[in-house]
Amino acid sequence: MAFEGLADRLQSTIKKITGKGKVSEQDVKEMTREVRLALLEADVNFKVVKDLIKRIKERAVGQEVMESLTPGQQVIKVVKEELTALMGGEQSKIAVSDRPPTVIMMVGLQGAGKTTTSGKLANHLRKKHNRSPLLVACDVYRPAAIKQLETLGEQLSMPVFSQGTEANPVDIATEALAKAKEEHNDYVIIDTAGRLHVDTDLMDELEQIKAKVKPDEIFLVVDAMTGQDAVNVAESFNEQLDITGVVLTKLDGDTRGGAALSIKAVTDKPIKFAGMGEKLDELEAFHPERMASRILGMGDVLSLIEKAQENVNEKQVKELEEKMRTMSFTFDDFLEQMGQVRKMGPLDDLISMLPGANKVKGLKNAQLDEKQISQVEAIIQSMTKQERQEPEVINASRKKRIAKGSGTTVSQVNRLLKQFSEMKKMMKQMTNMQKGKKGKGMNF
Ligand code: GDP
Repeated sequence: MAFEGLADRLQSTIKKITGKGKVSEQDVKEMTREVRLALLEADVNFKVVKDLIKRIKERAVGQEVMESLTPGQQVIKVVKEELTALMGGEQSKIAVSDRPPTVIMMVGLQGAGKTTTSGKLANHLRKKHNRSPLLVACDVYRPAAIKQLETLGEQLSMPVFSQGTEANPVDIATEALAKAKEEHNDYVIIDTAGRLHVDTDLMDELEQIKAKVKPDEIFLVVDAMTGQDAVNVAESFNEQLDITGVVLTKLDGDTRGGAALSIKAVTDKPIKFAGMGEKLDELEAFHPERMASRILGMGDVLSLIEKAQENVNEKQVKELEEKMRTMSFTFDDFLEQMGQVRKMGPLDDLISMLPGANKVKGLKNAQLDEKQISQVEAIIQSMTKQERQEPEVINASRKKRIAKGSGTTVSQVNRLLKQFSEMKKMMKQMTNMQKGKKGKGMNF
């Protein structure tokens, strides 16, 4: 889970101060000392930590805290605002050229996730902004890179412009632009070559492409898990190419957060996107405030709602409500509902967006039991159509068959049946209450 280690430490530090009705200078001193250590341990750049702590200290012993009615919470607010500012403050949007196509050049070291991110970004632009991008394969040194981009294009049903490994990358990029104009592609995403280390040949080539295609954005793709190395890479690329933004990949596996917290402060270039997994829809626009919220255990309810809106079909929700009201909710509906929740992503990712989730024992490391969920699905799938509609008809021998068919045990089948029947009972009570049945004494 992203930032887990850092989040754990910061949360236990701030918990000590949150409820305080009075905050002394000594309290602030202790808190900032612990925050400082947590950030250094998370591999945040030393100078960045020093400046940040200085600002937090100044503000935390200043008027805004001392004169507030809830000084403890006010200190946390200061920490959150400073972490947000550190990561760039406002969300930094992607450029839109007034003379399309908008050209985005993707640069970065080999293995950082450049090619995958090119595909993810194309997918994002189409899905979220209704655009039609053209992907361009300019990494002619690694034959597999061209193939990889073409495969991504196929998976996404999106055009990929390539001219094999013999052509010159500057020419490929130039011709791709002409092609995009012809085909009315409004974005061009150029996947350039990467090396294991920053070297002058690579930079020369990238500079030539830049001079020729005059990109609206140059996104540096860096691997968040490499911590301060990612920050150093960002500094070199920025010096040479004057990048416009950073895409931090593999944030899903980065428990420390050092790169995310240092890059903006060191390069003065914003993080625009974060890669949260290998799949093509696992790219998120980077929101500094939401990220700070997550780190401090305040949750990220806004992202959770956005995910729900993207993945849950409103018509189905309405139908479900109707079914609950009329008590015709069946195992089929249950299965469908589970499918919708799963579409939103791995459950432990979703849970990490809930406020305070880190603190709830059992939720953490729960790996929210994807296995258990698959078993529930398998049990329902092993039922007949009739059984899914009227589970009461399931007798002992059928239970045995269902358990066998789903690779589970009879007691697991029994448990599910019991839970389902209890859930229906609860729905009944709720609908009765909503109808305002006399004698219940509750008004909604
Ligand atoms: P390139 O050499 O920079 O083009 O890197 P690739 O696009 O080939 O990616 C290298 C590896 O990183 C691949 O196995 C990707 O699936 C993986 N990868 C890329 N982005 C992410 C991410 O956000 N999360 C995770 N977990 N893996 C990623």
